[in-house]
Amino acid sequence: MKELLIATKNKGKVREIDNLLGPLGFKVTSLLDHANMPEIIEDAETFRGNAAKKAVVIARHTGVLVMGEDSGLEVDALDGRPGVYSARYSGEQATDESNNDLLLKELSGVPYEKRTARYRCAMAFADKDALIDVVEGACEGIITSERRGTNGFGYDPLFLIPAYQKTFGELDLTVKQTMSHRAQALKKFLKLLENYLVRTSY
Ligand code: IMP
Repeated sequence: MKELLIATKNKGKVREIDNLLGPLGFKVTSLLDHANMPEIIEDAETFRGNAAKKAVVIARHTGVLVMGEDSGLEVDALDGRPGVYSARYSGEQATDESNNDLLLKELSGVPYEKRTARYRCAMAFADKDALIDVVEGACEGIITSERRGTNGFGYDPLFLIPAYQKTFGELDLTVKQTMSHRAQALKKFLKLLENYLVRTSY
């Protein structure tokens, strides 16, 4: 079975990507399945830059096909923050809980119509020799004023989808999979993968 290594240790992301890619016959693995992986410093200013760095470093090191994924939340009332710092928004020891607490604090008093935000996701594809391409997806939402639901991960209990009037914390994962930033990027990523397999007879 062909392997696609997702260059992340985030179990929430791996679960979502595996769900969408598994049926294609790929064995989806992550950094949690491989020992002695190089440390990757996420120091790019864009999701694309970080995704590309993760993919290239891990593909060169392991020799297998790699997806580098970088994603995060952009809040309009915070001028796009936390952005590429979403995982570390509340500090180096940040947890989903502390990040959500800080987001609620920074947005306290901001009215519903000004709580617009979007998740963004960049997915980079690399083999052992080179970066092949980077694709992106986005998903628009509203930041609620209190946590709602326990599904998903990260900021999901605060991320409301207006069409459903429910957060990703309340919506079933199958619904998230139809519209999320990650699902949109993944559709484009699948095309990259298909083209690569045809071109290289991998
Ligand atoms: P990364 O590992 O640097 O890409 O961190 C991305 C961070 O963005 C995560 O730790 C979450 O805080 C947030 N994030 C990205 N995608 C999602 C999502 O689908 N739901 C909730 N939070 C997300």
